[in-house]
Amino acid sequence: MSADPCRGAESLLQPYLDRVLTEAEVARIDGHLQECSYCSDRYVFERSLRTAVKSCCSEEPVPDGFVERLRRRCSDQA
Ligand SMILES: [Zn+2]
Repeated sequence: MSADPCRGAESLLQPYLDRVLTEAEVARIDGHLQECSYCSDRYVFERSLRTAVKSCCSEEPVPDGFVERLRRRCSDQA
């Protein structure tokens, strides 16, 4: 594991969203997300993105400006 907890959390974010992590890994991410606003924002962003992609695939329209808002939100934090 890297000395930088954010980097470690970031690399586990996708498998975390995919629910393919072990309980110990999930607990570690959960703990980190609670104390790190940067990573929890990233998590919320990734999750929103997945929801948007999923609703695209199921032919539900993504609200106007939704992706744009996400993008702006992301760049605000850059
Ligand atoms: Zn972090």
